[in-house]
Amino acid sequence: MQSVSYKLGRFFLCGLKYNSELVRSVVNFARGKRVKMAVFTVVGAVKQARLAYYDQAEHEYQKIKLDRPLEIASCFGNLSLKDCKPFAHVHAVLADAAGKTYAGHLLRATVFAAELHLQELLGKKLEREYEQTTGLALWEFRR
Ligand code: ZN
Repeated sequence: MQSVSYKLGRFFLCGLKYNSELVRSVVNFARGKRVKMAVFTVVGAVKQARLAYYDQAEHEYQKIKLDRPLEIASCFGNLSLKDCKPFAHVHAVLADAAGKTYAGHLLRATVFAAELHLQELLGKKLEREYEQTTGLALWEFRR
C-alpha cells in the first residue's frame, strides 16, 4: 500500500446553491479557494441524481438514474488532480420518501439544498492516472 501524509489546511463550510450541480459546485468552490487536495462531506437533499456502479469485469460504469427528490443520507469524497485539473471523486447514499436508499459513485446531482464541509490538505498533489488492471483513473504515487 502506498500513502502520503498531509498537514491540515483550512476547513470550510459552504452552502451549495439551489439547482446547482453538486459535483461541479464542489470542484468550483475548491478552485475558487485555490484548494488542490481535500476531503469533504455533503449533507442535504437533491432534486435528482445519477449514480454509477462500476462493473469490474467490463471495466465500465453502469448508470443508475434517479429522477426524484432524495435526501443525501451520506456523501463523501476527495479532491485531487486529473489531467492537471481539480477532480472530485464522490460517493453517496441517497434516500427516498420511504427511507429506501440508493448508493454508489455519484456522477452528478441537482442540489435542492446542500451543505458542504471541506477539509483542505496541504502537501503533495496527487494526480490520477489510468491504471490497466482496474481500468480506473487511480492515484499515482510517484516521488
Ligand atoms: Zn467511485
